[in-house]
Amino acid sequence: MTHALVLNRKFYAVQIAGWQRAVSMVYQGHAEVVDGELATYDFGTWAELSALMESHPAGFVHTPRLRFAIPEVIRLTRYDRLPRRDVAFTRRNVYEHYRWRCCYCGVRFGSDELNLEHVVPRSRGGGSTWDNVVTACVPCNTRKGDRLPAEAGMRLLVKPAKPRWSPAQAIAASSPVPLRKSWLRLIDRAYWDGELG
Ligand SMILES: [Zn+2]
Repeated sequence: MTHALVLNRKFYAVQIAGWQRAVSMVYQGHAEVVDGELATYDFGTWAELSALMESHPAGFVHTPRLRFAIPEVIRLTRYDRLPRRDVAFTRRNVYEHYRWRCCYCGVRFGSDELNLEHVVPRSRGGGSTWDNVVTACVPCNTRKGDRLPAEAGMRLLVKPAKPRWSPAQAIAASSPVPLRKSWLRLIDRAYWDGELG
């Protein structure tokens, strides 16, 4: 299975698409093929080039009439927007954010030994939000109980906050395949340009 990196009209990475969808978008004129130098090609031009290629990293699609090199990167001709960058508040994402460590003792645990811990307890109005929920191991969680950290004589090793993911992380999280090295340069572009700040 081959996939293509999809860029928006301004060459910012938005997602990873299966090759059939990528080829079909180019065929319909909704997207163009992008090469390693960021030159773009419409379907007809790329088909002509494909006929001259001896080989192509992603291989070819064959039809009775032509051979089409499967694009590794395509650019949408109209779409300007960027993918959603918010990190959803889920158990897994919280664990991931704190690198599977207890935020009180700093020890790394497996998922069944970690709990989500409300810094300000729910009984005191603490919310289930990024800035109030951390990971805690069972002993630390039990020790803290229904108290504030200071009341329990405990100290947080981190300041709870919503993570900010780089575009590479956001795209990797929604990608059905591992990101290719050749894509990363393009994916990180928006990040370095400060567009996502
Ligand atoms: Zn702990």
